[in-house]
Formats: sequence, structure tokens, C-alpha cells
Amino acid sequence: MKTSSPEQLARQQESYIGRFAPSPTGPLHFGSLVAAVGSWLQARAHDGKWLVRIEDIDPPRVVPGAAEQQLETLRRFGLEPDGAVQYQSQFDERHQAALNRLIRSGQAYPCGCSRRDLPPDGIYPGTCRNGLAEGRSPRSIRLRTDRTGPVTFHDLVQGRQREHPGAHTGDFVIRRADGLIAYQLAVVVDDHDAGITEVVRGADLIESTARQIHVYHCLGWQPPRWMHLPLIVDEHGRKLSKSDKDDPVDRRPAPEALRLALRALGHEPPAPVRNISGMLEHALARWSPDRVPRGPVTAEMHPD
Ligand code: GLU
Repeated sequence: MKTSSPEQLARQQESYIGRFAPSPTGPLHFGSLVAAVGSWLQARAHDGKWLVRIEDIDPPRVVPGAAEQQLETLRRFGLEPDGAVQYQSQFDERHQAALNRLIRSGQAYPCGCSRRDLPPDGIYPGTCRNGLAEGRSPRSIRLRTDRTGPVTFHDLVQGRQREHPGAHTGDFVIRRADGLIAYQLAVVVDDHDAGITEVVRGADLIESTARQIHVYHCLGWQPPRWMHLPLIVDEHGRKLSKSDKDDPVDRRPAPEALRLALRALGHEPPAPVRNISGMLEHALARWSPDRVPRGPVTAEMHPD
């Protein structure tokens, strides 16, 4: 008989907390709608909570009004967060505290290299790991990856994954040269502090996951479970962009756009149901990560 480890038992008893974490860099496009709907369904299917966090810590990329517009779009699709919307920029002190811990423990260090100093493959060779390279002044802070082996994790849609952060990117930036905390650190601190038990997001972020698990380990925290939804591409196989003029989120009535999003998640809504809540209910009753295609999925911009 298979016995559960203490960790598995703890997880069976925990209550589910999921989230959707858009960056307010433009309107919510179809690929993000798929991530929002998928994370909402997965949280509801577990009787869990679904939180929304606006990832606004990159001021040069934030578009004024975009966060409000994204939240309005979520409402239009019947996706209401449980609890107040969080803004990542409110958590700067916690990000700094985590950064300082990593520096103090010798796991992170200042680096004086710019992008130009990296080899053509972009993998950081550890130049400043044992002290700033001669003549350089500190620019960014990097996290060491040379003391860890490959990271493995089970993704609920994409299956078993294995990646060595050291081989993939080398020591990576956790505080940028412009002084901002990098996404890879901020997202881990915020998900941990919010008690997120499972991260459901687009497959474009799966290549960040091993680095994020490494950050969890360096901070002594338990990583969440992972589920990466299929990447949504256009008919040429290119990732949909926020500027796509045919984006169903803007071009279609909400029930039609939702139908397309559910299809992308492997769920066919019944034809007569034309209202948002009926479609979400139908999907929820049948929802299973096993039905979600690995992708990439071609967005049908023009539904029947
Ligand atoms: N803010 C990120 C984005 O919109 C997503 C972060 C995440 O889900 O981990 O691409």
C-alpha cells in the first residue's frame, strides 16, 4: 500500500489558495483571459480561494489605467477575487527583507556586469561571484546557482519537468541594475506571503519555474504546486500579444470570448448556454487538469 509522506498529508489537509497575477502593461488579452479562467476554475474546483495580485513593480512598464481596466475585464467575465485586490508595489519592504536575507547568508552577491559583458549564450558565467570583477562597480544583485543541482517538479498539465537553473541561466538577477526587485524574487515572496498553494499560469512562464523553486529553497520555504496552461498562439504559431487587433476579449461579446477561452482549456461549453455564469458553472462541474491540452493552442479568433 502506498503511504503518504507527512508533507503529502499536510497538503491534503491544507486549504487551497490560488491566484491570478497580471502585469498592468496593457489590456487583458486572450492569453491572460485563459490563465485567469483556468486559475479561477482550479481554485473553485478545490473549494479554494482565488486571489488577484496586480504585479506593478516595474514602473517603466506600467501603463496608467491598465490595472483598473484589467479588473473591469475580469468582472465582465464573472471572475471575482476572494478578498481585496493586492498590488505588488505595496510589498516592497518584504521584498527588500528577503533580498537582505539572501545577501547576508552568502547566497546572493553584487555584480558589476552589464548585459554586454555576458557571453553570446546569455548564461552568466559567475564573473563577480567571488568579488566584483576588476574595475567594476556594483550594479545588480544575483542569486548563486552553483551550489544546487537540477530542480525537478511535477506540473499538473505539462508533466514532469527537470531543469538546472545554473545551466539554463546561471546566477540570475534578483535586484536589477535600476534598483528594482526582479520578478523572480518578488513573485516568490508575494506568493509565499499570500499562502498560495498552487500557481496556475501560462506556459510562457514555465521556464521561470525552476529559478523560482530555487528561490523558495534558498529562503527555506516550501514551494507551491504548479500548473502551466497551454500557450495561446496565432495561426502562424506566434504567441498572442497584447496589441493583437483581433483579440476576442475586445472584439467579441463576453460569452463568445469565454467560450473560446474554455475551448483552449479543453472544455466545450454546451451550445445553448449563452450566459457567463452558466458557462462557468458548466465548466466547473466538469473541470479536470487532465483535459487541459499541453499546447500550444491556436486561438480561434473567429468562432462559429
Ligand atoms: N505578472 C506576470 C505576467 O503577467 C505573471 C506572473 C505569474 O503568474 O507568475 O506575465
